[in-house]
Amino acid sequence: MGFVKGLKCRECGREYAVDPVYVCEFCFGPLEVVYDYDGIKKVLTREKILSRPQTLWRYREFLPIDGEPTSGLHSGFTPLVRADKLAKHLGIKKLYIKDDTVTHPTLSFKDRVVAVALSKAREFGFNTVACASTGNLAHSVSAHGAAAGFKRFIFIPASLEKSKIVASLAYEPNLIAVDGNYDDVNRLCSEVANKYNWAFVNINIRPFYAEGSKTQGYEIIEQLGWRAPDVVVVPCASGSLLTKIWKSFKEMKDIGLIGELNTKIFSAQATGCSPIVTAIKENVDVIKPVKPDTIAKSLAIGNPADGFYATQVIKESGGYGADVSDTEIIEAIKLLAKTEGIFAETAGGVTLASAIRLVESRHINKDDLTVLSITGNGLKTKEAIIGHTVEPYHIDPNMKSFEETLEKIKAG
Ligand SMILES: *Cc1c(COP(=O)(O)O)cnc(C)c1O
Ligand SMILES: [Zn+2]
Repeated sequence: MGFVKGLKCRECGREYAVDPVYVCEFCFGPLEVVYDYDGIKKVLTREKILSRPQTLWRYREFLPIDGEPTSGLHSGFTPLVRADKLAKHLGIKKLYIKDDTVTHPTLSFKDRVVAVALSKAREFGFNTVACASTGNLAHSVSAHGAAAGFKRFIFIPASLEKSKIVASLAYEPNLIAVDGNYDDVNRLCSEVANKYNWAFVNINIRPFYAEGSKTQGYEIIEQLGWRAPDVVVVPCASGSLLTKIWKSFKEMKDIGLIGELNTKIFSAQATGCSPIVTAIKENVDVIKPVKPDTIAKSLAIGNPADGFYATQVIKESGGYGADVSDTEIIEAIKLLAKTEGIFAETAGGVTLASAIRLVESRHINKDDLTVLSITGNGLKTKEAIIGHTVEPYHIDPNMKSFEETLEKIKAG
């Protein structure tokens, strides 16, 4: 049995039953899942969590399904990697990478949200799932949907990285490549969702889908030894992950799984698509939509659905934001790879490069226990660094050729 009380409008507070609905009929505000926290507090202890398998479902009381999960049974519980070499490079003392580059099965944090969304879609009785995606969601819905036996309609901007498109196609979904950017795709999908009785994971199932992101936050706290970090740097597309990490921390505090909560939440974006960071820097509440132009395609949402709420979290927590150029993104991808052995996609480059900026500007202090949310795998965006890496040494298949090259390498 789940602990969901219902849905509630974030703006006017009107309550709704648990249905595939996402927007308030009265004020058009977004709906959010509400839980019986007193009930959760009675049953959920650290010991109980620790006794369960290492997947995102070990926090199931905080997730909006009623029965047993049916999708993403092995997703979540990615490593929290202590990154001392990178910390030294940045000039801070305690740095961790939350490494969602290895999320099962599609190597991005989107497996968390899709695990929850498709489990809920099954409970609602849907047989078709769909999404509007900047790439990773397409991959994840294609995979989880195949495993769970759903019909799948996947909508993407036609200009996505080839490696991401091919990755999705491997699972044989109906892939619809739209000539337009993500915001165009999303607008189209809202219309499609009105007409067809499909579970659009990030439209009509969005309140449930978004809750899956909280599991990254619970894991960070558990893996730090049941404490919240001082700083989390989060890459933002729609802004949902950022708001849900904050929600997860607050929930753990509210039910007594941690004591103190003094975490500052920072937003990381590419300069070519930084509507949330711009609002933070200009200290305004209105998000001004932009036309994305960046290699960080997974973050290229010009009109972020949760942008306003992300700015509220950043302000409430005392955080800030940074935006970085495509060149900085590429350099940061390589820095993470050569210091910590982790190959992240462009979004990871955005997060690390933004963290570097935030340390330089003293928004992050050298004593802050800092976690970088690294959300996707570099194998999915190889295009971004082709031509920017070192080159292989080409030799003939003999010892002489090798040793000549070795001399050159030694000579530097
Ligand atoms: C989707 C995505 C994000 C951010 O998602 P939000 O829409 O802000 O929740 C971050 N990193 C990667 C790799 C993504 O695919
Ligand atoms: Zn409302």
